[in-house]
Order: sequence, then C-alpha cells, then structure tokens
Amino acid sequence: MSNKQPSSEIYFSTAADHLGLSDRLRRLLLTPERDVKVQVAIRLDNGDLETFLGYRVQHDGARGPMKGGLRYHPEVDDGEVQTLAQLMTWKTAVVDLPYGGAKGGIAVDPRKLSKAELERLTRKFVDQIHDMVGPDSDIPAPDMGTNSQVMAWFMNQYQTHHGFQPACVTGKPLELHGCEGREEATGRGVVIIAERLFQKLGQSLAGKTVALQGFGNVGSFTGKFLYERGARVIAITDVRGGVRDPLGRGLDIPQLLEYARHNNGVQGFPGTEPLTNEELFSQNVDLLIPAALGGQLTAATAPLVRAKYIVEAANDPTTPEADEIFHKNNVVVVPDILANAGGVTVSYFEWVQNRSVVRWPLEEIRQKLEQKMSAAFDAVWQIAQDKKLPLRTAAYILGIGRVAHATELAGVS
Ligand code: NAD
Repeated sequence: MSNKQPSSEIYFSTAADHLGLSDRLRRLLLTPERDVKVQVAIRLDNGDLETFLGYRVQHDGARGPMKGGLRYHPEVDDGEVQTLAQLMTWKTAVVDLPYGGAKGGIAVDPRKLSKAELERLTRKFVDQIHDMVGPDSDIPAPDMGTNSQVMAWFMNQYQTHHGFQPACVTGKPLELHGCEGREEATGRGVVIIAERLFQKLGQSLAGKTVALQGFGNVGSFTGKFLYERGARVIAITDVRGGVRDPLGRGLDIPQLLEYARHNNGVQGFPGTEPLTNEELFSQNVDLLIPAALGGQLTAATAPLVRAKYIVEAANDPTTPEADEIFHKNNVVVVPDILANAGGVTVSYFEWVQNRSVVRWPLEEIRQKLEQKMSAAFDAVWQIAQDKKLPLRTAAYILGIGRVAHATELAGVS
C-alpha cells in the first residue's frame, strides 16, 4: 500500500471546500466505520494448504445499510478497498439509493484457482465475515473477478449461519433469487449516461467513435449497448492484448463477444490490428471508456488522450494529476460515482424484490434504471452548470452533501 493520498480523498476535499464542511465533519465522513482484514486459508485440489488475505471495509452507513462489491484480484489490499468503499458511499448517494458504502475483496488471482478451490475460498471468507454483513447491515455484490456463481456460494454459506436470507448479497443467478438485468446493468447504465451527455450537448451518441478498455462484465455490455445505439467502437483492449478496426468503421461487437468467449479475449479477432493500452488511449476517437482497472489514466497516460469525452465505467480509473490535465485540455470526464452506478442501482432493485418476495419483469427494471440514471445525471449536470465546475466535483458535491446532511440530521449518539 502506498503512502500517497488516495484520489478519492483529494476529490473529497475539493467538494468539501465547496460545501463548506467543518474539519470535524470531514474527519467523520472520511473515517471508515469498520475495516476488517481476515485470514482465508483453504486446501488446494492437490492437498496443499494456501492462505489468502480477505478484506471488508464498511465506510459509512448514515443513509442506510452499506453496499459494495467483492473483488478477487491479486492487487487487492487495504488501501484499495478503503478507497473503493468510500466511492460506494458517494455513489449510492449520487443515485439516491437508501444505502451507505462498503467494499471487500480477496488478494487472489481467480484464474489460477479451480472452480472447487474458488468455492472453498468464498465459503471460508463468508465464515470469517458473516457476523458483520447481512441484509440490514452490509450487502456485497459482484466486482472484478467475481460473478453470479460466487454470489450464489456466498448466499448459500451465509444461510448456513443465518437461515433463509436471499437479500444478504446481490448479483445472484436468476434461478437463485437474482434479478433480471443485473448482469447487464453497469454497462447499460454507462451507455445511458453517455447518451445523456451527448443529448445535453445537442449531439447524438449514434455515430460517435469509441475506444474501450476492458471487455469483462462491464466492458462487454457497454460495447454491446454502444453498438446497438449506433456508436462505433473502433478499439478495445483486455488483459491479454487489444484490437483496432483499421478501417475505423466500428468493430462488430456481437461477433467479437462470441469470438472473445471462445478465445479467452479479444486478441486476434479477424480483420483487426493488434493494440496496446497506450495505443488505445491515444486513438483519435470522440469517447474513451475505461472499463478495467483503477489508476489507468495517470500523469503519464493522460497527455496521450485525444478523445474529448471520457465516461468512467471502471472504479477510480483517473488519478488527480490526470484529472487536472483533462480539465486543462477541456476533456469532459463523467466520473465513476455517476457513470458506473447502474450496477448498484439494479442491485438495489434485487434487494427490494428479495425483501418483498416479488419479481419484476426485465422491461420494468430497465425503465427504472433509465429513470434513476437520468435523474442522477441531470442533477449532477445542473450543479456543474450552476457552479461552473467539472462533472466530477459536481457529483462529489451532490453525493457528499446528501451524506453530510443525513449525518447531521441523525446526530451522533
Ligand atoms: P471483470 O473481471 O468482469 O472484467 C475486467 C476486464 O478488464 C477484463 O476484460 C480484463 O481482461 C480487463 N483487464 C484487466 N487488466 C487489464 C489491463 N491491464 N489492460 C486492459 N484490460 C485489462 O470486471 P468488471 O466487473 O467488468 O469490472 C470492471 C471495472 O468496472 C472495475 O473497475 C470495477 O470495479 C468496475 N465496476 C464493476 C461493476 C459491476 O457491476 N461488475 C459495477 C461498477 C463498477
């Protein structure tokens, strides 16, 4: 973990200055309520013992039960989970869900474990943290390296301790109290936001050229919906490499999805040229969408960016130094806490359905998602216009303002 101040705290300070928050309230809002690190020891398939570190940070519960993903990635550490938990607090407030923020993860490369090992790892982690999470306190969901299968194991193991509690986790399979449209939700939300941005500018998403980093859950659905709405995705990278359409007409995303499924990534898709991440960032496109790791747009990579618009599908993809460069270069950045909030929004719909033992049809969920995302975008846009601020600062002002207000109303016992 580096000693550098996390980007979320720097963005927080700027917004807190605009809101005129006292130092005491700032300290309260920045301090996580609970920060837990646990040992997760399992037997590997070959009989060896392996020990991993698991984390859960509950950042703030002023507005409701804390909500946040569970990430399986080798670079997961306390600092990263703290930053991501804090982002969840502001994100749930920006889209006005009755939640606070949390995040968790295990420092592991899930691609190096068998399915049986992943299941044991998940169940062991649940055994270690089950008494601090639950439908009324802290509700995990999928993030990088986890999926609906991991959520199913999570729920099943949680229920061995607490009985029937499907609302203890979201992003579950449809057959196990999951929600229609949850898997596509983050990507769908990203595209709703991109469309709204161009509408506000009197332009259209259709016909715009796009470079996309990441083709996992979020990246692939983002690509699919961009394609369906007539945008041209001309370059994509994933962890193994990247591809570019040399003719600039736009990649055939449905075919690329099929190809990536069978070839473990986008690399080598017929009719394309290979591409690195640096080359992806410097593509002459209208819109750049980071949908992979955090910290990708830095002081080193930001000057390469030629796109005039960035929509942050990934969490924390832009360092404050890069953000400054984008501001100077008049690049409009739609921040993660707004752009990728579609996932947590549909997670909320799943939780509501689980608690009321009802099931909503896909069309209803898509409509509700569109309403939530559009309302949040419009609120952030209005603050940005009124105060002449970048969208990131405006989103932080909206999110932090709501949490600060709830905190003051409730008081401290
Ligand atoms: P995922 O594991 O499904 O996919 C990650 C993708 O990133 C993969 O295509 C992988 O190949 C690619 N990638 C990894 N390292 C890379 C590198 N060095 N260069 C280029 N590509 C690389 O994860 P996901 O769920 O799609 O999450 C992606 C991002 O979106 C994360 O930042 C996550 O926190 C954020 N996010 C996810 C959700 C969700 O609902 N899953 C919600 C909000 C935000």
